[in-house]
Amino acid sequence: MRAHVDGTDGMTALRARGLTKRYGWNDSLVRAVDAIDLDVPPGQTLAIMGPSGCGKSTLLHLLGGLQRATSGELWVAGQRIDTMSERRLAKLRRHQIGLVFQSFHLMDELTAVENVEMAALLAGTAPRQARRRALHLLDQVGLADRAAHLPSELSGGQRQRVAIARALSNEPHLVLADEPTGNLDTAATLDVLRLFEEMRLAGQTLVVVTHDARIAAIADRVISMRDGAFADDSMFADSYAH
Ligand code: ADP
Repeated sequence: MRAHVDGTDGMTALRARGLTKRYGWNDSLVRAVDAIDLDVPPGQTLAIMGPSGCGKSTLLHLLGGLQRATSGELWVAGQRIDTMSERRLAKLRRHQIGLVFQSFHLMDELTAVENVEMAALLAGTAPRQARRRALHLLDQVGLADRAAHLPSELSGGQRQRVAIARALSNEPHLVLADEPTGNLDTAATLDVLRLFEEMRLAGQTLVVVTHDARIAAIADRVISMRDGAFADDSMFADSYAH
């Protein structure tokens, strides 16, 4: 039961061995992710950077169990997921993983707070607790006064912050984020950075694909990708400036 409670069973939050994703065949073959080995300990903030087309998004989709690898082995919170059934994988995602992806749209007919609490409700959190946490998260991303607004009444940057709050509502051990500050202004970016700091203090593991040097600056580790592989891997022992 302990393994379920802490979610990691004393293991790495993420472990990949020879993780590979290829698209196409023969002349059109693309090695989007090429035999990657990765260990992310619980609580680490890892930033992945690199030029467009180097495989960052594909890697993040593999790590979140949204796409299947061509080959290789992958563990999330100590559980092997590359051989897991879709049903078990969906359950693991619901309980353990928060996804901040641009392509995951908010539900138009739900207010901001309803969008945020939905993930927690689906994971079985009591409604009152889910609402309390959703309001706290909206406050954290600077949207306390927009809780009752529909997505259509929010700006693009505000919607993006609601999506980030939603990804955190089920208190996932692992958060995967693809360009979370992509179209945010400076004030909103600072809100997101503060939220990431809170996650880090809560011991959550964060893997974030970003071009934003401000996010890289708060990471424990920055990996540069080139052509589907890791080109450079920097660990910062105590990089976080308080
Ligand atoms: P990044 O996120 O770093 O921009 P991607 O992971 O989106 O990179 O893409 C990595 C490589 O895989 C690119 O060459 C891209 O063209 C290719 N790719 C991505 N998705 C597909 C797909 N569905 N079919 C074929 N090729 C793809």
